[in-house]
Amino acid sequence: MQQTGIHIAGRWDAGATQIENRNPSDVSDLIGHYAQASSEQLEEALDSAHRAQKIWWAAGVQKRHDVLMAIGTELMNRSAEIGELIAREEGKPAAEGKGEVYRAGQFFTWFAAEALRNQGDLAESVRTGVEVDVRREPVGVVAIVSPWNFPVATPAWKIAPALAFGNAVVWKPANLTLASAVALTDIITRQDIPAGLFNLVSGAGRQVGQRLIESPRVDAISFTGSVSVGRSIAASAIGNMTRLQMEMGSKNPLVIMDDADLDLAVSCAAGAAFGGTGQKCTAASRLIVHESIHDVFVERLVEAAEALTVGHALDASTQLGPVVSDAQLQQNLTYIETGEAEGASLLCGGKRLERATEGYYMSPAVFSDTHNDMRINREEMFAPITCVIKTGSYEEALNMANDSEFGLTAGIMTQSLARASHFRANARAGCVMVNLPTAGTDYHVPFGGRGASSYGPREQGSYAAEFYTVVKTAYVAAGDPL
Ligand code: NDP
Repeated sequence: MQQTGIHIAGRWDAGATQIENRNPSDVSDLIGHYAQASSEQLEEALDSAHRAQKIWWAAGVQKRHDVLMAIGTELMNRSAEIGELIAREEGKPAAEGKGEVYRAGQFFTWFAAEALRNQGDLAESVRTGVEVDVRREPVGVVAIVSPWNFPVATPAWKIAPALAFGNAVVWKPANLTLASAVALTDIITRQDIPAGLFNLVSGAGRQVGQRLIESPRVDAISFTGSVSVGRSIAASAIGNMTRLQMEMGSKNPLVIMDDADLDLAVSCAAGAAFGGTGQKCTAASRLIVHESIHDVFVERLVEAAEALTVGHALDASTQLGPVVSDAQLQQNLTYIETGEAEGASLLCGGKRLERATEGYYMSPAVFSDTHNDMRINREEMFAPITCVIKTGSYEEALNMANDSEFGLTAGIMTQSLARASHFRANARAGCVMVNLPTAGTDYHVPFGGRGASSYGPREQGSYAAEFYTVVKTAYVAAGDPL
């Protein structure tokens, strides 16, 4: 049983307090006890990070490339093993956990090469005899606060660019998923890196997380999680003028037009709504369906939802694992009651399920007869619940898709190039999908949204440099050579 959740100044450390984590597929399965960092340990992590960052930056790009490549390669080689750990602690099917860890490895190997591509610009000065160059330097110490739903991939797409560009990291993962946080920390800290370059400080968000993001010794904060926590982080960060990047909630629309390929539309909608038990920021939670195909689409979607096998995350036949925790399950069931009270028709699912082991199982739910102004269509539920909204035209569908405080992903199912092009240009979202699920993105291009979904520069791809580096413009007067 793993006993710690703290790695600071190059060593594993015990904590004054611990938490106990259990398997959401089987609450009798104790995963481990995890140490929680104290204020003193957090300060030590920040001290060591500041020291190590300077050494790491001075070590140069080949070193950073090699370390990131080794981390990524180990993650890919051990994706089945660590993926199973994720399945056990978070509840996603083991195959999804494996895919997540492999993807995390790809973030590291991609950013390994990005370290080598950190090239600046040269400019002619407007003054004769002066040379100008523009270079990217590290920001310094980056605080990373991450959620439980992608417990390895999300921190990976933050840690990899942070290290690639010469920064140090202090990481506060979600307390629900500390087994995989310990596994990732083990891989990173076994590399030949300065002690304290990478620190794991587990603890409750409102305590350790809050202290970390309020620290004036943090140079940049990258956060993924809920909008409410994001707002409070932004308020704290501005007081210290700390650089900030946040990915938060969503309410992603998938528009299904009358000319859509129906089989494809049903599979994209069901996959994006229920994959990862709906606990994805890219989940399709509003299905805006043209009235001429509405009834047949809904019938087929309900069939698809009812055909999904809900079960233990480590059972090979499972397509939908449990939700992550009892609190999340209770919140989901409350949203089912809310939808019914608002007048929506619950066509299937939305019930707690019994399985051979005691866990947080829930049947995938489809609501129809919903309107875009209902709470179930405005608030992020983070649940295996999707809502169908009937529409009479493409124009109305686009307006409804855009009528949300969020704007992460938006999709359209259509065989019309004209509609697809118009939607791509006019959807108010950071990522647009045409004839694809709203979930499922690549690792080498930017990811992020608009409105309340994102704040600050984009994550991933070459755009990540905007957040993880500061630009320095140098003017050099060459002088007289004679
Ligand atoms: P939170 O936003 O509460 O948690 C995300 C991370 O922030 C966790 O590491 C958490 O720590 C930490 N945290 C919590 N409070 C603070 C704080 N005051 N200061 C600094 N860090 C803090 O999300 P939850 O896990 O509670 O999920 C609640 C809802 O948020 C979900 O139902 C979903 O709607 C949304 N969510 C969205 C995600 C996305 O990818 N868009 C991801 C996760 C959640 P800890 O949990 O250990 O206390």
